[in-house]
Amino acid sequence: MALINPTTLKPRLMKSALNTLYYSGLYRLLEKEWRGVGAIFTLHHVRNDGDAPGFAPNRILDVTTDFLDATLTQVRQAGYDIVSLDEVHRRLREQDFSRRFVAFTLDDGYLDNYRLAWPVFKRHGAPFTVYVATAFPDGEALLWWEILERIIAAQPRLTVELDGRTSHFDTATTAGKYAAWDTIYRALRRMPETAQRTTVARLAEQYAVDTRAHCRAQSMSWEILRELATDELVTIGAHTVNHYALAKLPEAAVIEEVTRSREIIEQRIGQRPEHFSYPYGDERSAAGREFRLVESLGFKTATTTRKAMLYPEHADHLTALPRISLNGEYQSPHYTRLFLSGAPFALSNRFQRLVVN
Ligand SMILES: [Zn+2]
Repeated sequence: MALINPTTLKPRLMKSALNTLYYSGLYRLLEKEWRGVGAIFTLHHVRNDGDAPGFAPNRILDVTTDFLDATLTQVRQAGYDIVSLDEVHRRLREQDFSRRFVAFTLDDGYLDNYRLAWPVFKRHGAPFTVYVATAFPDGEALLWWEILERIIAAQPRLTVELDGRTSHFDTATTAGKYAAWDTIYRALRRMPETAQRTTVARLAEQYAVDTRAHCRAQSMSWEILRELATDELVTIGAHTVNHYALAKLPEAAVIEEVTRSREIIEQRIGQRPEHFSYPYGDERSAAGREFRLVESLGFKTATTTRKAMLYPEHADHLTALPRISLNGEYQSPHYTRLFLSGAPFALSNRFQRLVVN
């Protein structure tokens, strides 16, 4: 799971800015300098059905199989190679940029990656990586952002203990649900990781949501992951054990989360992961300390959710690679075209190619 924009306003503003950049043609002026040598795409859920109307704060984490299918066609037609993370690593190390490239990565280990995304990638002969947080296939992950959405969606009013205070929310309307989501989500992202999980576990108990059943229903099992891993198109990467924001943990706990997840995956599927992605992946969840630790632990690459293209200089920052989210809010080929120009990220990163500290 990547960083969520907790409001509905932000995506609307973002879309209008992106559309201006696209329809003015301005992106074409920036493209030559800013498209870089390639890109890594981030995905989470892949589903058959499209946008559900109403309250769906996690919608940005879903794309449809049709959109994925169209995107694979689009990037190939635009002349990009679709490559594995091993190949991204090789091209950066050897500075082999004779052709531009993209890599596709899916975070967390959702069952729909196996059922729905895998057949699409297979049909295109396109390599992809699944980063697995091992508590997901173990059936023990608390998918707190999905649990919170489920509870708010189902309840007309809500009582929550946040930071030792009782708060009441009117969640009868979609607007009320979004307002409650914004407040609770923000508080949960701020608090220590163990307190966050305790708070959501208590809330789930209060509103009779079975968090383990939810995890099992949403996650690939180890058996399925073993089957997926036999496909030469597939790379299994590590994504910690418990999906904590690593920057909020003491150093020893970061090392434990990273190395333990690699060991568990190696034991369970017989392949030692060489690629890693940081849970949430934003600046507050992974930064310099994490980049150095993951490098020292011997991973070939590690990816964030900082938004940028790949440039030759990333060869010196292989455990701080940026990605571009293929997300539910932007399921149109013109956004993909715009993202591949690098123009939106040149602007958002204030014309800095590297955002690695
Ligand atoms: Zn994740």
